[in-house]
Amino acid sequence: MVVVMRERATEVQVDAVIARLIELGMDVHRSSGATRTVLGVVGAHKVEKELIELLDGVHEVLRITEPYKRASRTFHPEDSVVMVGDVRIGGDEVIVMAGPCSAETEEQCQASAAAVKRAGAKVLRGGAFKPRSSPYSFQGHGEKGLQMLRHAADAHNLKLISEVMDISQIGLIDKYCDIFQVGARNMQNYTLIRELGHARKPVLLKRGISATIEEWLLSAEYILAGGNNDVILCERGIRTFETATRNTFDISAIPVIKKLSHLPIVADPSHGAGRRDMVAQLARAAVAAGADGLIIEVHNDPDHALSDGAQSMFPDQFERLMAELRIIAPAIGRSICLESSARRGWAR
Ligand code: PEP
Ligand code: MN
Repeated sequence: MVVVMRERATEVQVDAVIARLIELGMDVHRSSGATRTVLGVVGAHKVEKELIELLDGVHEVLRITEPYKRASRTFHPEDSVVMVGDVRIGGDEVIVMAGPCSAETEEQCQASAAAVKRAGAKVLRGGAFKPRSSPYSFQGHGEKGLQMLRHAADAHNLKLISEVMDISQIGLIDKYCDIFQVGARNMQNYTLIRELGHARKPVLLKRGISATIEEWLLSAEYILAGGNNDVILCERGIRTFETATRNTFDISAIPVIKKLSHLPIVADPSHGAGRRDMVAQLARAAVAAGADGLIIEVHNDPDHALSDGAQSMFPDQFERLMAELRIIAPAIGRSICLESSARRGWAR
C-alpha cells in the first residue's frame, strides 16, 4: 500500500500516520520529495484503506497488491491444475461438464448422461438441491436425486458435480459427488465456503450474480485459506441493465481471471444466455477466450424439464457444439476430448 500525504501535511501529521501504521503491525518506508511525503507500507492487506484515508494530512491511499494472496497469480505464477480422479482441469485439455439442470428420474439421468458422454463430456452435472427463485418451483429430489445422478455417472464412466446449497448438505454431496458446486447465490455464503475449505474434494465456485471479480477471488480465498487448494472458478453471467438475455455473460472475466489468478476457470453459457438458441455461441466464445472448461445444461427432453428447460440443449445440439469446439480448441493451442462416436442428425 502507498500512502500519499497532502502537499502541506505537517511533520506532526506525517509522524502520526507512521505511528498508526506501525501500531497496526506494518513496516513503513518514508520518502519525502520537494512537495510531498509518500509512505510505502508493507503488510497492509489486513487493513481497511479507508481507515488510513481518514487520518489527518492523508491525500490518497493506493493498494498495489491484491487483497487475496492464495488466489493471486503474483504469489503463484504457474497455472494450477485441479485433478478430479484422472480428469485434469486447468491443463491443455478443455474439460466439458454437461447434464440436466436437475435430476428428475432415473431414466432422464441415464439418457442425459449417455448423450453427454457420447459427445465427449467428462463430467456429468445435475442438481439435487435446487436454489429456485420461487419457493413454489421444483426444489430437487435431494438424496434420491444424488443417487440417480451417481448411478448415471457410474454407468457412463463420468465424474459427477452437484450443487451444495447449505453447510448441512456437505456430507451428502461428498458421499455421492466428485466436485462440490457452489451456486451463484451462495458465492458469499461465508459459513458454507469456509467449511468447504476443509473438504477433500474440488469446489467449483460460481461467480455471484452481482459480484465483482475481486469479491469472487476473495470468496475463492476463503476456500484456499481453509486448506483446500482445489478451487475452480465459474463465470455464469452477471446481472446488468440488459434484459435480452437471462444474465449478461461476462466473457472478459475469463482473460481477467487468467491475468489475476492461477486458478482454472470454466464458463457456464447456459445460465449466461438463459435460452438454448444462444448457448453454443457463448460456449464457442468462452473456449476461444481461454476458458479451461465449460459446464452446460443438456437434457434428453428439455421441453419437459422440471427446471431450466429453455436453456437446456437437445443432445444433438450439444454434439454439434462439441464438434465445433474440436475445431476452435486446437486453434488456440488446446485440445478437447475426441470421444465422439455418433455424427448424426444435426438438424436442430
Ligand atoms: C445451476 O447450475 O443449475 C444453477 C442453479 O446455477 P447458478 O448458481 O449459476 O444460478
Ligand atoms: Mn440450472
